[in-house]
Amino acid sequence: MRIAAAARTEVGQVRDGNEDSFVIDERLELFAVADGMGGHRGGEVASATAIEALRAAVAGGRAIDAAVKAANTAVIEKAAQDPDLAGMGTTLTAAIALDAATLRIGHVGDSRAYLLRDGVLQRLTDDHSLVEELVREGRLTPEQAESHPQRAVITRALGVDEDVEVDLYTIDVRVADRIIICSDGLTTMVRERDIEAIARTEPDTRLVANKLVEAADEAGGEDNITVVVLDVLDVDGSPVEETADAVDAMVATPAATSPSDDDIQPVASAAPRRSRRRRRVASIALVLVPVLLIAAVALGAISWYDRNNWYFAQQRGQVVLYRGRPDPVLWSATREQSPAVAYSDLNARGRTDVRTNASFTSKPAAIAYLRTVTTTTTTTTTTTTTTIKKRRPAPTSTTRPKP
Ligand code: MG
Repeated sequence: MRIAAAARTEVGQVRDGNEDSFVIDERLELFAVADGMGGHRGGEVASATAIEALRAAVAGGRAIDAAVKAANTAVIEKAAQDPDLAGMGTTLTAAIALDAATLRIGHVGDSRAYLLRDGVLQRLTDDHSLVEELVREGRLTPEQAESHPQRAVITRALGVDEDVEVDLYTIDVRVADRIIICSDGLTTMVRERDIEAIARTEPDTRLVANKLVEAADEAGGEDNITVVVLDVLDVDGSPVEETADAVDAMVATPAATSPSDDDIQPVASAAPRRSRRRRRVASIALVLVPVLLIAAVALGAISWYDRNNWYFAQQRGQVVLYRGRPDPVLWSATREQSPAVAYSDLNARGRTDVRTNASFTSKPAAIAYLRTVTTTTTTTTTTTTTTIKKRRPAPTSTTRPKP
């Protein structure tokens, strides 16, 4: 049994640079994908640093978990040397052949490893992402996770903490198995059933890597896309069928520190991803609906505040009633019908309240008050309902009325 491997990486259609890195080292039988993140060149430096350190550690005889931890240390040390690289990090999903029939996978972050066996795609790794943790806790459905605005937030990465926890999986492989290791640029763009369809129908290792990357690119290529494909072949180089007994003996067996196979299955068979456009619409709606609701409530509150007030002002010697605020937030005050009263007919208290635009909670209350401060009885009424601009509607007269 031997492994044939192929890889392809693409920048995609949106990003300026490719922050993914990968390695295929057939001598070490080491295969890995890293998806870097960080400002400036941080992402690509982080992923490349992790891959190089991983390879060096494996070449030096380290086990996969120790090698991933060495990669973590290398990213942290590199970031410490250069302020431009501060805060950089990377995912790392690495597979190494322990012997002719066993793969060992070390995994941190939201890149993924899949196993295609007998035409069925099975996800081997758990994403260390916020939404996947919420799904595992039952707080989000897989459908909600797909359109969640924070679905890019990862909860574990290399370069963050000196002491990184590495998920480990031991996979008993057999001839004709196909392992796919990929960055999230594939899995956020292409549904798992479509990944399965491509991986199942394309026999050529190199072509399946190409087709998967192209599918993600054609679906929008919103992120860098990297795919490493491993085909388990017999020594002659052809993928042949095993006997039924051998099939039963060889199953994916995650290590004790990893979630059980049963835990992987429901997530792996998560509902198909919606089209990119539908997901985008859902994302926008998720943000827009609460924003519109808050805006509507705020508008209602402002309108209520602006309109739920009455006050008097002096205009050309007359006292006029306004509904609204002298200094409105949004809505201009409007003139209301009120008894015709000359400013000069007000007593001292009335003049002060008109000058200062004293507030009344209703029109009847305002008019009742006006009568109490008027020294001369009047009979005519104004009927104007002019809308005035968002200005103080009338000067709060400081001119004294003529005696
Ligand atoms: Mg990515």
